[in-house]
Amino acid sequence: MTATKLDLIPAEKWGLFPDMTKPVVIAGPCSAESEQQIFETARGLKAVGIGILRAGIWKPRTRPNCFEGVGAEGLIWMKRVQRELGMKISTEVANVKHVYEALKAGMDMLWVGARTSANPFAMQEIADALKGTDIPVLVKNPVNPDVELWIGALERLNMAGLKKIGVIHRGFSAYSKSRYRNVPQWQLPIEIKRRFPGMLMICDPSHISGKREYLYEISQQAMDLGFDGLIVESHICPEIALSDAAQQLTPVALEELLKKLVIRKVDSENLRYKENIDELRARIDMIDNELLELLANRMKIADQIGIYKKQNDITILQPGRWDKILEKVFLIGKEKGLDHEFLEKVFKAIHQASIDRQTSVMNRK
Ligand code: PEP
Ligand code: MN
Repeated sequence: MTATKLDLIPAEKWGLFPDMTKPVVIAGPCSAESEQQIFETARGLKAVGIGILRAGIWKPRTRPNCFEGVGAEGLIWMKRVQRELGMKISTEVANVKHVYEALKAGMDMLWVGARTSANPFAMQEIADALKGTDIPVLVKNPVNPDVELWIGALERLNMAGLKKIGVIHRGFSAYSKSRYRNVPQWQLPIEIKRRFPGMLMICDPSHISGKREYLYEISQQAMDLGFDGLIVESHICPEIALSDAAQQLTPVALEELLKKLVIRKVDSENLRYKENIDELRARIDMIDNELLELLANRMKIADQIGIYKKQNDITILQPGRWDKILEKVFLIGKEKGLDHEFLEKVFKAIHQASIDRQTSVMNRK
C-alpha cells in the first residue's frame, strides 16, 4: 500500500470552530422529525454554547419500514436554525441526490455515514458530486474495521479537490453482543491519527455507546486519546425520538456531560513534568530494547528447535507443550497483575511467529 499524503486545510481555517483550544462539539438529533423538534432542540443547544447543529434528513436504517427520515423538507427547518439562531448546520449525505439537495440548501458541513464510507462506489459518486465545492466533509469510519477503506474514502474526496476533510470515529459492527452498540476498537482512529496527525478527529460517542448511560465514559476516553471533539446526538425530548431514542440526551444533559469532561493537553511546558516524563520514557525505551533482545533470542532458539524437530521428523505444533506454556503464563501473569486477554494476545503472537520460523527452517533445502 503506497503511503498517502492528504492535501488538507486545517480545521482552524474552516470558519466553523471559533475556538479550537476547546473540544469541538457538534450536536443535534439523530433525525430531523418536525420543524418544532429541530427548532427547540437547536435553541436548547445554542443556550448551552453549541455552535453546530447536526440532524439526519435521510436515515440509513438497518431494516425497512422504520422511520427513514423526513427528506428534503427537513433542510428548510435547518435553514431556519441557521438564519434565525445563527448556528451552523450539518447533515449526512449518502448519495448524489443528497449532495445536491444539501448543497442547494446551504449546509455548512456534511458528513458521510458508516454504511456509505464502506462502499467505494458510493464514495466515488459523492466525491464527484462535491467537485468544485469547498464544503467541509467529515467521514465516519466504515462499519467494518478496515483502516485502508476509511483512508480510501478520504482520498476519494481529496482527489476531487476537497481539502476540508475530517474523520468521525463511531465504532464498528460486531456479531456478538457487547457493552456497546458498536465496538470502539480505538486502535483504528489511533492509526488514522498517526498517519494524518493534522486531520480533525471527532468521536461519536452516541453511535458507539447506543445508550446515554455510556456517553460520558466514551467521551472521556476520546478526550484522553486527544480527539479534537465530539458529535453527540441530542433531542429536546429523547423519549419520543423516532430513531436512536436510547442514546440521545437533552441539551441540558449534554451540557452537564461536557462540564464533567476532563480535557487534557497534548503537552506541557512545566519543567518538572518534562523532567519526570523524560526519565520515565527513557526507562520505557530501555525496557523496549530489552524486550527486542529477548524476542530475538527466543526466535533464535525457535530456529534451533526447528532444526532439531526436522532431524527427528517431529511435528512443529505440539499442543500439549503450548497449553503448558499458556497455563504458566496466565498463572505468573495474574500474580504480576497482567491482564489475561493482553497476555493471550501477546503470547499467541509470539507462538505464531515461532511456528512460522520453525516452518521456514523445516522447509529450507
Ligand atoms: C448518524 O449519525 O445519524 C448515523 C446514521 O450514524 P452512522 O453512520 O454512524 O451509523
Ligand atoms: Mn443516530
